[in-house]
Amino acid sequence: MYHGAIYRDFNVVQAVILLISVGMVFINLAVDILYAYLDRKEDAIRSTEDIDQVVCAEFPDPVIQPILFNIVASHMVHGPCGIFNSKSPCCDTDGICTKHFPHALLSTTQITDDSYPKYRRRSLKDGGYEYKYQKSQKDDPIYLNNGWVVPYNPWLLKVYEAHLNVEICSTVKACKYLHKYVFKGSDKAQIKVVQTNNNGKYNTYLL
Ligand SMILES: [Zn+2]
Repeated sequence: MYHGAIYRDFNVVQAVILLISVGMVFINLAVDILYAYLDRKEDAIRSTEDIDQVVCAEFPDPVIQPILFNIVASHMVHGPCGIFNSKSPCCDTDGICTKHFPHALLSTTQITDDSYPKYRRRSLKDGGYEYKYQKSQKDDPIYLNNGWVVPYNPWLLKVYEAHLNVEICSTVKACKYLHKYVFKGSDKAQIKVVQTNNNGKYNTYLL
């Protein structure tokens, strides 16, 4: 049902993405489209079963879905950080991941009052799968469970084959989220240009 809905509304989703990227001139229109998309009754996401049809936070079966498994392993695994790498940029001074990975393993999806749902992340015992991760040939492999998977939509992930985090955000707070992304500004960087003169000394310019 929902894969069909996403496919049918793929152009709408693309339109929203395009309008956001074009600029804030179109923000009202983008919000209207998003509202229309979220309000339609037959596609409204209300139950945990609905959520499971749209968002997945697990490694797929590597035998039945080897292509999707490889895409998830390549693009949708966080870190690994914390106990595996406390110096990761996502970790605080205590080596704890500020993005809350690895997430707790759950046998079923849970809806929370004022946050994203807690997505199903099954353990091996519950029928989940894990990924053998090896940073390089000389490093020992580590086994990552579903707690390390960034939530995604299987259909969209196979279309784009890139990091593509999909979350359930079906309340009026979606507008607040959208506005935050439009008004937070573009990425910024400092660039230093260094020029050597005839004396072997440097003139530097900070842009
Ligand atoms: Zn992390």
